[in-house]
This record gives sequence, structure tokens and C-alpha cells, in this order.
Amino acid sequence: MEKGSELYAGKAKSVYRTDDPERFILAFRDDTSAFDGGKVAQLDRKGRVNNLFNAFIMQKLEDAGIPTHFERVLAPNESLVRNLEMLPVECVVRNYAAGSLCRRLGVQEGQELLPPTFELFLKDDALHDPMINESLAETFGWAGADELREMKELTYAVNRVLKQLFQDAGMLLVDYKLEFGRAGGGLVLGDEFSPDGCRIWDAETRRKMDKDRFRQDLGDVIETYEEVGRRLGIDFESV
Ligand code: AMP
Repeated sequence: MEKGSELYAGKAKSVYRTDDPERFILAFRDDTSAFDGGKVAQLDRKGRVNNLFNAFIMQKLEDAGIPTHFERVLAPNESLVRNLEMLPVECVVRNYAAGSLCRRLGVQEGQELLPPTFELFLKDDALHDPMINESLAETFGWAGADELREMKELTYAVNRVLKQLFQDAGMLLVDYKLEFGRAGGGLVLGDEFSPDGCRIWDAETRRKMDKDRFRQDLGDVIETYEEVGRRLGIDFESV
């Protein structure tokens, strides 16, 4: 697979063309950012850790019958993915209250959410990813009614698989964000699943094991991502 020119550089990942127009290379960089780019840093090993973490999770989801864009790991910080027509919408599921939900509604952090909540946000940095709903998404053409239903179903299906996976490894999957794209008539999970885009707490102590360690200056950011991975059975030296 020939690596072509860079198509797009996000805050932590870059997308490269390949000699196959249907496939892209996702390159996970060591860059990290929070607060809409207001806080940035380079963290040693982050690209490798997130690439292998994402590969492990995407494979688990594929095994459970959830379609993803992931194809295979190419290098420690690079994976081959399918080219999707991405929808500009972020789907967030929460199993426990944290982050923007607590700020918005004044609820206590850590409260279990039954049933888990489902929220939509518009992917737009300039507008700081505002919260939207199904009606707005449909009216403005960000996603069709059928696509909204499919995204919600797939996002909850991901929750059933991953909640159990983390629970079996002594952790709580607090919340996470997913992005979907169109491919071959249906929706496919795109982007990434790593501790950068979800919240994970130790089940016993509720120690934060995700990007909140960076956001809140808690230290040992990548060491903790590696601990989450090791508990799940990921071998970060395998590539
Ligand atoms: P929040 O609404 O800020 O509490 O975020 C809910 C969950 O979605 C957290 O796990 C965040 O890490 C994740 N999330 C929300 N927006 C983004 C984004 N733009 N990039 C990565 N993760 C996000």
C-alpha cells in the first residue's frame, strides 16, 4: 500500500491518500490537545498507544458485527482505513455523569445514568461543537432521519460491547464520542476509539484513566493509557 499525500491534518491525527482511492492511512501523532486547541502538548508514545488501542477496540466491534472503517495496522502509529463520507455529527453516550453534562445540568459527577443518555453535537471547531438534536440535524441536512436512527442504534450497540469489555477488566466506561460515515449504502463507524475520546474510570477507586488526566493536569497521561490497554490485554510492543 503506497502512502500518498496528506489529505487532512487534525489536532492529533493525519489522513493520507493511498494508491487506492477507497482507502486512507490514518496516522496517529504524538500531539494532544484539549479545550478546542487551547491546551496542547506532545506526549511520547501517544501515537503508537492510541493507534494500537484503536485497532484493538475496532476489531472487538467488528467481531460483534458492528461495521467499522478499520482494516489493519500498517505501522506502530499508522492504520489502513476505508474512505468514508463522514457525517458532521458527533454521537455521545454516557453511562455515568461527567464533563459537559455536569456543567450543563448541574448534576453530580459519577451519578450512574440509567438508561444511558444519547446526545448529538455538531462537529464544528469554530462553533465549539454545539449540542444539536435530531430535528436540527435533519433540517440542516447533517444527517437523514434513517441515518439518525442507524447512528443511535449503532452507538448503543457499541455501548453494549464496550461497557462489558471494560467492566471485565475492572474499569467503568463513563462516556464516549463516536463519528460515522457513509459507505456502500449504510453507515460505518469512523474516526477512532481511544482514551482521547472517551472517559474511563477504575471501577474500585474511580481514578480517571483517560484524557481528563491531560485536561486536569493529573499527570502520567500515557502511562495510564498504557495501563488501560494492558488491563484489556493489548500488547503495545506487538508492532
Ligand atoms: P463532554 O461532552 O465534553 O463531557 O464529552 C463527552 C465524551 O465525548 C468525553 O469522553 C469526551 O472525551 C468525548 N468527546 C466529546 N467531544 C469530543 C471531541 N471533539 N473529540 C474527542 N472526544 C470528544
